[in-house]
Amino acid sequence: MRIVKNGDVHVSVPIGMSKSQVERFIEEHADWIAKARQNTSERQQRRMAFFQQLPLQTTAQKASALRRLMTMVAPMIERHAKEMGVSPKRITARAMISRWGMCNVKTGSICLSYYLLLLPEWCVEHVVVHELCHLLEPSHSARFHALMDRYFPRWREARRETRKISL
Ligand SMILES: [Zn+2]
Repeated sequence: MRIVKNGDVHVSVPIGMSKSQVERFIEEHADWIAKARQNTSERQQRRMAFFQQLPLQTTAQKASALRRLMTMVAPMIERHAKEMGVSPKRITARAMISRWGMCNVKTGSICLSYYLLLLPEWCVEHVVVHELCHLLEPSHSARFHALMDRYFPRWREARRETRKISL
């Protein structure tokens, strides 16, 4: 049994279990469900509050965010791309909350989230190196992790820190 994002309860039951058995099971776990729902909604509120620190409603706000983000990442991209022997074709930014960056391996373009501005610089750098690594290895394979070990040895720590901050 688990709580999904919108607060719904999803229950997986063995084949053959009757509807009343399922209902009883849910009733017996009412307290757990209430508590889990509460936790989920609190976590979502914290996440919302985190992202709202960077307002992106107006064109001016977006332009300012883009400028600040590019100022921060340009030197990182230049340095790491050179070291790794890759050359991204295009760097863009979007207001993404579900991921920090994306890499289109085919076109060689990297898209970064404006919200990286809310992270410490070394966490941003970890995202930058992660996306650059995709130009060498598209999937999150063992080879990918070996590349991360080589080009950003503290990547695990940075990933942990990033998750902690934004949750
Ligand atoms: Zn990735």
